[in-house]
Amino acid sequence: MLFGHFHALSFLRRRYSPVPTALARVPKVLGARLSKFVRLEHRLGGTSIVRIAVSACLLGENCKYSGGNNLCPKLVDALSGHEVIPVCPEVLGGLPIPRPPAEIVHGEVRTQAGESVDAAFRLGAERALDHIEAAGGCDLAVLQPRSPSCGVSEVYDGTFSGRLVPGSGVFVRLLRQRGLRVMQPDEFLTEFASLG
Ligand code: SF4
Repeated sequence: MLFGHFHALSFLRRRYSPVPTALARVPKVLGARLSKFVRLEHRLGGTSIVRIAVSACLLGENCKYSGGNNLCPKLVDALSGHEVIPVCPEVLGGLPIPRPPAEIVHGEVRTQAGESVDAAFRLGAERALDHIEAAGGCDLAVLQPRSPSCGVSEVYDGTFSGRLVPGSGVFVRLLRQRGLRVMQPDEFLTEFASLG
């Protein structure tokens, strides 16, 4: 298997700028990792994990609201040799980089100024899912914590004060509705490392 879904990467090259440099540095095949990953497949319930959807910002893509990224080198290393589908639902929803930060306020995604960006978030989630399906689907998604799109187990509370509450982002809720397993990077790394 190859790291980096090439269709997805060419998509990224079309959609985003600059091209994620972290991806270019990742080795393509690591045999030892592969056998480890086969065991991971069993640990994750016996399903054959071939493709993993990953928040593009975790891979070094500058698609965050601030224009930066959330590069996680340990995650990039753990994904080496495997097929990855990078996705950024907010950019796919048509939101610019940079953009105002947004939080889920009483179930609706809004900026601090009170502007609703909920429709763009929902559209982006649908488009990201379409993109994953067009790439052949995925068995697992590893997503950026706390984001109003990608947050897995907690999100900001809607007061823009940095407080977190239990909950999940718009994209994560859609993935779960479709029966897909979602994880934060630390969960994936713990699962992966425990196989060592
Ligand atoms: S929507 Fe997801 S992938 Fe895009 S910047 Fe936010 S957390 Fe990262």
